[in-house]
Amino acid sequence: MTSQTADRFKPFGTTIFAEMSRLAAEHKAVNLSQGFPDFDGPDFVKQAAIDAINQGHNQYARSPGQPILVEQLAERFQSRTGLEVDPLSQITVTSGCTEAIATTLLGIVNPGDEVILFEPYYDSYRACIAMAQATPRFVSMRPTNGRFAFDPDELKAAFTDRTRAILVNTPHNPTGSVLTREELTQIANLCKAHDTIAVADEVYEDLVFDREHISIASLPGMSDRTVTLSSLGKSFSLTGWKVGWAVASPELSAAVRSAHQFLTYATSTPFQHAAAAALRDGGDYIADLCTQYRTARDMLATELDALGFGVIVPEGTYFILADHSAISTKLGVDNDIDLALKLTSEFGVTTIPPSVFCETKDLCSSYLRFAFCKQEATLTEAIRRLKRLND
Ligand code: GLN
Repeated sequence: MTSQTADRFKPFGTTIFAEMSRLAAEHKAVNLSQGFPDFDGPDFVKQAAIDAINQGHNQYARSPGQPILVEQLAERFQSRTGLEVDPLSQITVTSGCTEAIATTLLGIVNPGDEVILFEPYYDSYRACIAMAQATPRFVSMRPTNGRFAFDPDELKAAFTDRTRAILVNTPHNPTGSVLTREELTQIANLCKAHDTIAVADEVYEDLVFDREHISIASLPGMSDRTVTLSSLGKSFSLTGWKVGWAVASPELSAAVRSAHQFLTYATSTPFQHAAAAALRDGGDYIADLCTQYRTARDMLATELDALGFGVIVPEGTYFILADHSAISTKLGVDNDIDLALKLTSEFGVTTIPPSVFCETKDLCSSYLRFAFCKQEATLTEAIRRLKRLND
């Protein structure tokens, strides 16, 4: 069969998240690969969606977002960053943050521009850069003093006079690093020096443990050169609702909207109404979720360490990136992909092999990513199965 896929997508194949979740189902494995909770979001938010449907909020939404939601988002953004934004001209609601990433890059980047991304990176970044016909520049995150961090000199060297944008993902998937003010200031200074736009993916902003999440938009001189992206899914355990948003200056928002209107036009109307309710009344839910995830993180980190994985405890997100060298040596496997396949088919636990998130293959091939956004019983069962590694 000859491939009908356009050349621009050929290098990417099927996304690893769909692939590993499919394999997990096929082998009846405990799925710690794709990052989604195995429990439901809050009842009051689900009820708000049902009410919105029953009240007749079922036709196209306003293309950049329902007023009830963008007003809530403007308030939330101001309380978190201190920046006042106009809800109607500065916020664009998208179908999840993945659409916000695509829409932003397609809306602001010209063919031949350069876009910097930190590796390991969320897989859609690389594909969206290809869709925008831009050139990616990679900066590595490596274990440095007990956390993953970039080398400031490597970052500086990645900027050129063609750098249009840098993708700043904090808290960072998959390493779990929460970028510090110092790190964000280094990035901001380079953005200002090279007239570069920061595209800040902050979807894990609520999932931080003993760390402060800082939006790069709030740093001096950055509010007009940052597009801040986030979503409802991670904070409210509703990843299937696909409600995301982009906050930016009116000029950058106009660029974002130029693509959004032709990609999806608008996002599901009733879910926007429910998202507004979640953001208005959901503070306690998020605080409790964070406590639950901290417990899950500590439990999984301790158990993986006892099994022989080299764990770098994440500062945020719901992922642990663990070094599998000792385990793979024992099993006679020499890379993350083969180990992830073996753990799925022979041990019944599925993870993500992070080398698919890296251009520099050896940067990531000694790690596996474990998602801990799961019920305690799920994590306990995964550990019980993995204990066979030491039989
Ligand atoms: N962000 C999720 C993760 O990293 C996956 C999103 C998706 O499946 N597209 O696991």
